[in-house]
Amino acid sequence: MKAAVYYDPDDIRCEELLRPRIGKGEILVRVRSCGLCGTDVSKMVEKTVAVPIVLGHEVAGDVVEVGEGVKNFRSGDRVCVAHHVPCFTCHYCRHGNHSLCEQFRSTNIDPGGFAEYIRVPALNVKNTTFLLPENLSYEEASLIESTACCLRAIKRYPLQPGDTVVVVGAGPMGLLNLQLALLLGADKVVALDLMEQRLKVAEKLGATQSLNPGQEDPLEAVKQLTGGRGADLAIVAVGKITAIAQAIKLVRGGGTVLLFAESPPHSLLSLDPNVIYHSEVSLIGSYSSTPQEQRMALELMKTGKLKVKELITHRFPLEKLSEAVVLARGARESLKIMITP
Ligand SMILES: [Zn+2]
Ligand SMILES: [Zn+2]
Repeated sequence: MKAAVYYDPDDIRCEELLRPRIGKGEILVRVRSCGLCGTDVSKMVEKTVAVPIVLGHEVAGDVVEVGEGVKNFRSGDRVCVAHHVPCFTCHYCRHGNHSLCEQFRSTNIDPGGFAEYIRVPALNVKNTTFLLPENLSYEEASLIESTACCLRAIKRYPLQPGDTVVVVGAGPMGLLNLQLALLLGADKVVALDLMEQRLKVAEKLGATQSLNPGQEDPLEAVKQLTGGRGADLAIVAVGKITAIAQAIKLVRGGGTVLLFAESPPHSLLSLDPNVIYHSEVSLIGSYSSTPQEQRMALELMKTGKLKVKELITHRFPLEKLSEAVVLARGARESLKIMITP
């Protein structure tokens, strides 16, 4: 089978690999669509993974083989699959930090979503594999994992009627966060991005206001929308220190800044600690998702209330993964990029 194997940012090869063999409780999935995630891009660009490796974890496809004892799936089923499975019982899981669970970090699909076929281990078959309804395309379904990550993040702040959310960075994840904030009860959502194109999409998807912080100071606008207070929640969906610093200024006293993107390694944030003490601002993070949010994301997507087709701008075959990475890094005309093995 074909797979896109990463060696170096300038060296991603489409290679012939052995098709994985499945065992008891496992399934083999023919990948039809796999989203290129910001974390895939940063792993490649920052060289934080051991090579060679097949990345990709936002998978949708067809079950083509089921192992002994698999009851919930059969050949021909359309499914989406997520890669990490928490144990739900360890110290981290019991505290809601599922993505820090040892099992979570050690589980994965084999070899990765940028391949024609993947072996889905038994734990993933049980917990992170979902049957797709007919009204969801493979492409839409490959956004279930990203949506689940956003849901997990937003759930960390109990939104109340009348609340205002600022989304810093209107890339694919920012635009999902924007929509989810509205669906989960935010009254107003302000989107910030340096790209006009992205701001236009944000408005189409329901942003109350969208602003380019390179051209105007968003503080005035946010204050005006909130009776002078500032936003209740700011979601920073871009891995930039300047964006985080900006978000801290935009939240009200007692507000929350949620870090939702990976900053480059060794980044340092300077912060007046009194922002946290006197102003009671919370600085929190959210990484990845659990089967619970994946199920929620699927249910939400079934309803059609979440607009995901609008986020998909490009499609590339396995052979052109490196081109896709260059496009994603530029973060210009592209939003979500799909790899179609
Ligand atoms: Zn992802
Ligand atoms: Zn655990």
